[in-house]
Amino acid sequence: MSLLSIVLPAYNEEDMILKSAKVITKLLQTHKIPIEIIYVNDGSRDGTWQAIQQASIELPNVKGICLSRNFGKEAAILAGLKYATGDCAIVIDCDLQHPPEKMIEMYHFWQEGFDIVEGVKASRGNEGMLHKLFAKSFYALINRATGFDMERSSDFKLLDRKVIDAYLNLPERKLFFRALSFWLGFNSTTLEFHVQERETGQTKWSYLSLAKYAMTNITSFSTAPMQLVTIVGLLFFIFASILGFQSLLNFARGESLEGFTTVILLLLGVGSVIMMSLGIIGYYIAKIYEETRQRPRYIISETSIKDQKL
Ligand code: UDP
Ligand code: MG
Repeated sequence: MSLLSIVLPAYNEEDMILKSAKVITKLLQTHKIPIEIIYVNDGSRDGTWQAIQQASIELPNVKGICLSRNFGKEAAILAGLKYATGDCAIVIDCDLQHPPEKMIEMYHFWQEGFDIVEGVKASRGNEGMLHKLFAKSFYALINRATGFDMERSSDFKLLDRKVIDAYLNLPERKLFFRALSFWLGFNSTTLEFHVQERETGQTKWSYLSLAKYAMTNITSFSTAPMQLVTIVGLLFFIFASILGFQSLLNFARGESLEGFTTVILLLLGVGSVIMMSLGIIGYYIAKIYEETRQRPRYIISETSIKDQKL
């Protein structure tokens, strides 16, 4: 049987580590699938790392990687995949909101020859109105930018070894796990699941962090906001031509002293559009700057894996 690596990013999840490790181990043992479980502690402030170390002592196939600070879920997933030695790997949240039973079906799909098995949300679970609205508009934008419909997609996925290698070899610093498996191509299929309620702890996403996440991912997939600047500029040019023509006409007729309100409105309008445009361009320049610095995507401070170099 082929080895399955299970990667679980964990940020302040001390209560969930041992619990999820036991649930997963038991489940896969009954289905006789050989596994390794890799927890990535994403700079947690609570006892998550201690819990992971404890779990790796109690259960022989649990491994732990500790990042030096909170690098975010994307980086944690990447670190986990980097250390995965299996023929395929499943990325799953360690709060058990992704139903572990589905991993069995994913594995069977993989055995049938699929390279990527996407977990898609049959329902979005319990989320607030505002959260739903944000999520909807974010995915609408992403959909337009990339041409992929990702509204129901999640980070719960199975990847074949060759997909993992392709993913790890992507040079960019900022990655968007959910979308890159679309971009990578390969032979993929989807599997529906219902998002479970969180048992303990709370979601790590605030509105601010969600907004940042949205900005980063939209701009990493699309330059449409920059083109928007050109379009707005064009519209203003047309408007300005008409107004310019009218002003000239007024001047010729000797009625040119009026229209002070128009001047003020124009100044304010043009000013704010220029500011916003600079902001958008600045955002892309910042991204270029970040990518060219070539900083590592995460830093590992320690691992529970013996005789393996950091
Ligand atoms: N997570 C992480 N780093 C972070 C935020 C979250 O590794 O900076 C992990 C978290 O421990 C969990 C998963 O990502 O296993 C999903 O996070 P969460 O449950 O907070 O998100 P939600 O399910 O609400 O989308
Ligand atoms: Mg969750």
